Amino acid sequence: MTETIVITDPDKDRYHTFGYISWWRQDIVRDATVLVVGAGALGNEVIKNLALMGIGNLLIADFDTIEDSNLSRSVLFREKNNGQRKVDAAAAGVKDLNPDVNVKAWHGDINFEMGMGVFRHIDAIVGCLDNREARLSINRFSWAVSRPWVDGAIQELMGIVRVFWPGEGACYECTLTDHDYQMIGLRYSCPLLARENLLMGKVATTPTSASIVAAFQTQEALKLIHDMEVQSGKAMMINGLTNDVYTTEYPVKEMCMSHSRLEPIIELPQVRSDKTTLAELLAIARGRLGPEAMLEFSGELVVAMRCAQCEEEEPVFKKMARLFESSATCPTCGSRRDMVLTHRITGDEAFLERTLAEVDIPPLDIVRARNGEERVYYELTGDKETFLKFS
Ligand SMILES: [Zn+2]
Ligand SMILES: [Zn+2]
Repeated sequence: MTETIVITDPDKDRYHTFGYISWWRQDIVRDATVLVVGAGALGNEVIKNLALMGIGNLLIADFDTIEDSNLSRSVLFREKNNGQRKVDAAAAGVKDLNPDVNVKAWHGDINFEMGMGVFRHIDAIVGCLDNREARLSINRFSWAVSRPWVDGAIQELMGIVRVFWPGEGACYECTLTDHDYQMIGLRYSCPLLARENLLMGKVATTPTSASIVAAFQTQEALKLIHDMEVQSGKAMMINGLTNDVYTTEYPVKEMCMSHSRLEPIIELPQVRSDKTTLAELLAIARGRLGPEAMLEFSGELVVAMRCAQCEEEEPVFKKMARLFESSATCPTCGSRRDMVLTHRITGDEAFLERTLAEVDIPPLDIVRARNGEERVYYELTGDKETFLKFS
């Protein structure tokens, strides 16, 4: 089959030269929605490339603010941006580069504040991160809803680019070693271990490594958008000292914890995390699954902190993994408090009138409802605009 190549007027069309590329479809690029997680050195380069190519919708996620040390590796930032949120400066940079691109800047923590439903509405996810915890979150979300993601990593003159398509070869978690788990475990498994050091480690790198790796990442995202073949579960290793570039394949782990898919997912356009209560969502679940149905959370929710000494209970309603060590200490007597935990809602709770947001469920998240062996996954679809309203 021969593709029709449309050649436009170079004086009128900024995408003119792309028309000469046999497989390039500007309409596909224009219709695509891409999520870039991380607006640091890699993120700046990926966002710049996507903007130049005329990507239709760009969601930029980051929780950081700009400091002068970012300026040596961030093409979208200027000195005057010091102190601003990275996502805002990056979004403004995109508009400046190419006003055709619709952008949404989202400032927050991907691990806890972005519902995994977001991933369902995205064509390709590009991870531009410097830590394992956020990579693992992206990996689990993308597996859960079956979306592909592109990982990039840089250190000095070294780089790695990897594509992970759920079900096609190894996933990011399959590649983790015991040491990696230890590093993440410091934050995950021990309740309330100090998390203050999170992301404090700075990765030494140059703008050249960032642009090399980001260029490959963007190309892989472009292939994903065009439904072209990608080498999922393999790593492209780039050694900028010896100029070696090679690929290596990871084995799939049998018992990998990331390999679980949420099915079936049911969209609830009327449900919003900040409006809908637990009681209301439970009623929806019971309407479908029967009066015994319950809601289940993926992690432990700390309902309260209880001090045995003072016989006092402080309401908390935060995921256990996001609490700091300091919150275990009783502010009155200084002794260590116990956590009151739950991971499901059965209808007997005293806090059923709390909204989903008030029990630390992020916007556009997907919540499991179960009755015996029967389970469904509800997407809080009413929250879509929080992440997917582009301008
Ligand atoms: Zn895996
Ligand atoms: Zn106390």
